[in-house]
Amino acid sequence: MLILGRINNMENIYYPRQATLKNIKEETPTIKTYRFKLDKKLKFKAGQFMQLTVPGIGEAPFTPSSAPGDVGEMEITIMKTGKVTDKLHDEVKVGDTIALRGPFGKGYPMDKFDGKEVLVVGGGVGLAPLRALIYALFDKIEKIKKIHICYGAKSPADQCFKDEYKEWESRKKVSVNLTIDKPHPDWKGRVGLVTCLLEKDYLKKMNADIANSYVVSCGPEVMLKFVTFKLLDVGFKPEQIYLSMNRRMSCGVGKCARCNIGPYYLCKDGPDMCYADIKDYPNVFG
Ligand SMILES: Cc1cc2nc3c(=O)[nH]c(=O)nc-3n(C[C@H](O)[C@H](O)[C@H](O)COP(=O)(O)OP(=O)(O)OC[C@H]3O[C@@H](n4cnc5c(N)ncnc54)[C@H](O)[C@@H]3O)c2cc1C
Repeated sequence: MLILGRINNMENIYYPRQATLKNIKEETPTIKTYRFKLDKKLKFKAGQFMQLTVPGIGEAPFTPSSAPGDVGEMEITIMKTGKVTDKLHDEVKVGDTIALRGPFGKGYPMDKFDGKEVLVVGGGVGLAPLRALIYALFDKIEKIKKIHICYGAKSPADQCFKDEYKEWESRKKVSVNLTIDKPHPDWKGRVGLVTCLLEKDYLKKMNADIANSYVVSCGPEVMLKFVTFKLLDVGFKPEQIYLSMNRRMSCGVGKCARCNIGPYYLCKDGPDMCYADIKDYPNVFG
């Protein structure tokens, strides 16, 4: 059982707030969505991230996957990959308390999307931060021309939020485009890496208006790299591409210099960065 003492000083960025685990949903064999009840309401924007501490183990950054706003509960979708996430997956139970600091970062540039089409391009657990964006776009759908959700996973079993695709697609102006990496007996849809959804022919099929679109992408670094190259190849400009740079971060507030790209601190100036701003610096894709 993980319990934290009550912490009163909420102004200090290093002091966390308490969050009690209310529900756990298994998305895939390695990804779970955790629903937390917060000790008091928290205002966050889609794309901003939290630092989550499992007491005694450590802290790691995660972007909420639930609808942004001024909320009393928050969902975070987490892939099992190391110390903190192993402990969460293997030992933390409903009723346990963890610690959250944040929100940090700027969040997605929501105002830029007004009057535009938005291509939301996710891979694997990368659909988690994008789900918060998708909800935020649904909230202002009258201002958005179209939302094209493009999502790639290794196999049908590796798809996150699969019980939501039908509801998303039933909405006006929204298309959901799915692919899995390799053929699978349970899958009748498209097969190939997520970049296959960004081929010129497929974009035409989606009726995507490249000149009047923004793209927001989140996934493994190698995916972001090939998504970016494909987007440039089919005619998107660097200014139209936003990438969620989910690199290792520590302080979350631009002090420790663990997450820089050129002059940018991804934790403070991102984590969602316009490709035009970062493209000329070394190691953009790791
Ligand atoms: C802004 C942001 C948002 C994010 N949002 C999400 C999200 O919504 N969902 C999600 O699942 N993830 C998200 N991530 C990624 C998440 O933060 C990491 O998966 C998490 O930090 C892993 O922590 P851990 O302690 O479990 O793993 P660690 O123990 O830190 O290990 C992580 C990986 O690094 C490797 N590793 C560990 N130590 C070393 C070392 N010394 N040298 C080389 N490799 C090493 C491990 O083998 C493992 O593959 C986000 C990251 C950022 C920066």
